Amino acid sequence: MDTSRDEARRRDAADPLRPYRDRFYTQPGTIYLDGNSLGLLSRDAEQTLLRVLEEWKTLGIEAWLNADPPWFTLTESLGALMAPLVGAEPDEVIVTASTTVNLHTLVAGFFPLTPTRRKIITTSLDFPSDIYALQSQIRLHGGDPATDLIVVPSRDGRLIEEEDIVAAMTPDVAMAILPAVYYRSGQLLDIARLTAAAHARGVLIGIDGCHSVGLVPHQFDRWGVDFAFWCSYKYLNSGPGGTAGLYLNRRHFGIAPGMTGWWGSDKATQFDMRHAFAGAGNAGAWQIGTPPLLSTAPLHGSLMMFAEAGIENIRAASLARTDYLIALIEAMGLTDAPYYYGIGTPRDHARRGGHVAVEHAEGTRIAKALKMKGVIPDFRPPNIVRLAPIALYTSYEECWQAVQHLKAIIDERTYEAVASGRELVA
Ligand SMILES: *Cc1c(COP(=O)(O)O)cnc(C)c1O
Repeated sequence: MDTSRDEARRRDAADPLRPYRDRFYTQPGTIYLDGNSLGLLSRDAEQTLLRVLEEWKTLGIEAWLNADPPWFTLTESLGALMAPLVGAEPDEVIVTASTTVNLHTLVAGFFPLTPTRRKIITTSLDFPSDIYALQSQIRLHGGDPATDLIVVPSRDGRLIEEEDIVAAMTPDVAMAILPAVYYRSGQLLDIARLTAAAHARGVLIGIDGCHSVGLVPHQFDRWGVDFAFWCSYKYLNSGPGGTAGLYLNRRHFGIAPGMTGWWGSDKATQFDMRHAFAGAGNAGAWQIGTPPLLSTAPLHGSLMMFAEAGIENIRAASLARTDYLIALIEAMGLTDAPYYYGIGTPRDHARRGGHVAVEHAEGTRIAKALKMKGVIPDFRPPNIVRLAPIALYTSYEECWQAVQHLKAIIDERTYEAVASGRELVA
């Protein structure tokens, strides 16, 4: 492998997505590799936020109907724009609330489970918020998380084997709630296979797409996924706390939303103000209250950019970047003495999300030392430095520079001067 800086520059020159970088606010002197935690602001997202502010300024309450597009149905419009990213029809996706709230709403909607099927499958490497939500839903419905929440273990502490999840799908299981991509290792699950296995066993399947939507093309309809939820502030660059996504397969349009509110009403009759709830009859029914427009508006510009760039192109560009990072780390000898960096992310494209999990015994100090060099990674316990080269705005040359810094902080023993212990927000 050619490990030269010139080679990185050649790759940038040949990169079909290169023009998109200029539409983002990158900071000189900073290599941002944390777009899997908080995506950067694009001018496109800024524009649609400014548009909504202007509409508020000039139209006031009239903007609910007279803005362009109208605020009253903005979350439906954005759901339709988001639907191609997950392989759904426009009315199966709605932009609403947050990841954790949507998980609560969805699971609450699918309770009560049958008397003989009361258990929910998760895995030991899941994001904690998902686990907390499921524990509390089980408790709220009279169950005991100690017995009703099945936590499929990891064999190596890094990955989850699909066959272990399938083996847990016993006749007492009601549903499996699984991430598409694991937040630590970056492992991508085979959702098509898991959905087929779940349905063959009478188990519902719900997918957390936080680390995959806007990165990996999904085909929720074709696979038959029952429901899904994801945030928009990671790969979708909608801004901190940006309004989240919810997918409901249309075969479930008939069930009552788990936590009902007036924003789930049929839009034609919402302002009739009747006490009998008349739901929207699609994913929109699962909205609860008035959407936070200012946290929703940036998503519009961002989603138009995704439509323009193409999710298949974004996926190819992401894999090319993570391939390059991994190959460079190995070709420069950084997995050997004295560096001892490990690669915790699967090499197989079919099992890889969008970041590279670089493992090191001194992970917290390595992450801090990288920041001192102007590289922004993040750290996840116990020993993972996550590096996410984002297809739309991270250059190959930045990947190259980041790897030089990984080498230098060991060569120069920079990390030894840094306090251990992670930061409050890692
Ligand atoms: C980021 C993330 C969340 C965050 O949920 P919020 O409700 O947006 O705070 C939840 N689950 C997973 C898997 C995540 O990656």
